Amino acid sequence: PDALSALLEKWTPQTADAAGLVKKTYSADELRIAIENGQLINYYQPKVAVASGEVVGVETLVRWRHPTDGIIFPDQFIGIAEAAGLIDDLTRAVFAGAMTQAKAWQERQLRLRIAVNVSMDNLASLNFLNFVTELTEKAGVAPQNVVLEVTETRLMQDTRAPLEILTRLRLKRFRLSIDDFGTGHSSLAQLRDIPFDELKIDQGFVHRAWANETLRAMYEASLSLARQLGMEVVAEGVEDRNDWDLLYRTGCDLAQGVFMSRPMLAADLPGWIERWRERVRTEFLAGGDAN
Ligand code: C2E
Ligand code: MG
Ligand code: MG
Ligand code: MG
Repeated sequence: PDALSALLEKWTPQTADAAGLVKKTYSADELRIAIENGQLINYYQPKVAVASGEVVGVETLVRWRHPTDGIIFPDQFIGIAEAAGLIDDLTRAVFAGAMTQAKAWQERQLRLRIAVNVSMDNLASLNFLNFVTELTEKAGVAPQNVVLEVTETRLMQDTRAPLEILTRLRLKRFRLSIDDFGTGHSSLAQLRDIPFDELKIDQGFVHRAWANETLRAMYEASLSLARQLGMEVVAEGVEDRNDWDLLYRTGCDLAQGVFMSRPMLAADLPGWIERWRERVRTEFLAGGDAN
């Protein structure tokens, strides 16, 4: 209590900022310039098949390489992009980067599905549908290998536009994924209305679900729901071997999380895949531990 009151007495926004307690807010103008100048960088995190250990795809996660502040995470600028009407420009930049990368991997015989995060705001007009289709075709990537991960952070006024756009993308064979399932508005109503191929169970129901009955019930209910709807299931937030073992025992399709790898630069992926395969051979198959 003494240390706390001493801290509070000296509190200023600057000291809090220095202590990492308050995050700097960026202006829409700074962000717009960052997008134009190519300061947004795509990181990639593997999605691994639990039964085989095979790397089946990656999720693209954007970072802002700020000229003076270092690497900025998306929770500090996606909301700004949405509010300032910059989200189409941001998603287009990320998607273009992802397609360039997918093409390069394809040329090196690395077959990976590539997932990109999509904001509900991207689904308000036909612009998104047009650039996704155009950039995918231009890169020569099959839509079956492109996953669109949709998160709904708040209720949409008009729900017809997103529904129509997602349905049209599905007809073109893009894979649709419902992200952060079980949180916010990422819910049953969406599953009822939109033809998703993949369901991502939010990390909040995955990590330590093996140790907690409440989490475990929610994890298993989500898994079972996805199964009954014929969807592929991804568990996010797989942080350790205990988390992984629960997925293995319950038959979850795909795993994503720091137990496999943090998001990384594209250049680091081939080396990581090598090491991961070695790890699967030694840690998972040799001992028969996971069986
Ligand atoms: P998301 O799509 O649900 O992505 C998963 C987040 O969990 C990522 O955070 C990832 O780095 C983090 N993560 C990965 N493994 C683990 C783990 O084992 N444990 C835990 N606790 N977390 C893990 P990140 O990269 O900070 O992204 C946060 C969110 O920002 C994303 O959540 C997504 O909703 C959004 N986002 C990221 N990139 C984009 C983008 O290009 N466009 C849009 N619209 N949104 C994006
Ligand atoms: Mg995602
Ligand atoms: Mg998620
Ligand atoms: Mg999330």
